[in-house]
Amino acid sequence: MNTGLQIAARYRVEAIPARRFTHAEFWTAVGPSVNSSALKTAPIGESMLGRPIRSVTFGQGPTKVLLWSQMHGDESTASMSLADIFRFLAEGGGDPLRERLRRELTIVFIPMLNPDGAEVFQRENAVGIDVNRDARRLSTPEAATLKKMQESFRPEFGFNLHDQNARTRVGRRGVQSGIALLAPAYDSALSYNDVRSRARLVAAALATTFAHAIPGRIAKYDDAFNPRAFGDLMQQWGTSTVLIESGALPDDPQKQRLRALNVAAILAALDAIATKSYAAADPAAYESLPFNQGGAFDVLILGGQLVMPSKPPMPVDLAINYDDAVARMRGRVRDSGDLTDAIAIDTVNASGLFLHPSPAALSTSPAGPMLRLGNVAEFDLRRGPSASSELVRRIGGEGQR
Ligand SMILES: [Zn+2]
Repeated sequence: MNTGLQIAARYRVEAIPARRFTHAEFWTAVGPSVNSSALKTAPIGESMLGRPIRSVTFGQGPTKVLLWSQMHGDESTASMSLADIFRFLAEGGGDPLRERLRRELTIVFIPMLNPDGAEVFQRENAVGIDVNRDARRLSTPEAATLKKMQESFRPEFGFNLHDQNARTRVGRRGVQSGIALLAPAYDSALSYNDVRSRARLVAAALATTFAHAIPGRIAKYDDAFNPRAFGDLMQQWGTSTVLIESGALPDDPQKQRLRALNVAAILAALDAIATKSYAAADPAAYESLPFNQGGAFDVLILGGQLVMPSKPPMPVDLAINYDDAVARMRGRVRDSGDLTDAIAIDTVNASGLFLHPSPAALSTSPAGPMLRLGNVAEFDLRRGPSASSELVRRIGGEGQR
């Protein structure tokens, strides 16, 4: 992991500084790498709106690996990582890892499979289809391009690279998931054949690698069989496929830490395939991961007294969700009342304290101000019911953190 993180820092493509970028910006930024003699770039299809979908190939080895990113347009972390990996692979010189990958593997990357979605930073393609629910029907050009590559290249291993909801936790009472892994099922009985067993070993190797950097922040993705999804069908088609979902980490608003972790973990997984060391991985390293759990709020304020203008204080818990859950910006009130049993990424203990809504948090009505769900979450947490009592902390407000 440490070597991988050094590579991630050294080969970071600075022209991609944040998690939102267009197809044109991506391919301009990776141009110097993918046009090098070490890599081969080819057009393999077009999006609905005619943007080229390209593959980037590295190595001449006997074991074939396919990686694809951003089939969901607003899930860009791994595309950033692939840009950095291209730069590492493109460089000359005798780095032993690079030489091992070149000798043992033929790697095909398809970065940004859904460029039309990426352009407007949305999940779906240009007609609103979730490309990852189109693996069976193959009605979108994006899904058809991926399937065509699987059929012609026949990879033994696949990596399905995504970002998941930032409000997902490691187990019900756990912290925010940084990474979730899955060796998808190929049938509804969730059986294990050779193909899926091999994927589980790679997932176990990945779990161990990630655990060095973010212990306790790795979860297992829901493994229910989905007959429309690519991970599941790739497994059925004979490609041992692992899903890597980048979630969110504290103080990583642009997912740059997750980007570097993906560089290190993907390179480690490729190396484990090149050396076949994945075969010695312990499946328990994957199986023992807690399941992802959804349904969390971003912030819960528990045990406080709400002070509405000219009303006596009343006990109210508040739940806040950010419009941008990754960067934790622009909070809105999502629930109010007895929220003792609710779950959040962050919980503020307001016992014995008083919540004073700012004017921005209140809606006006003829009979008086209202605190409505959806309002901007902006509160002063004070020691007393008086607006002049000591301020403990401000929630929301400037910068909307
Ligand atoms: Zn996704």
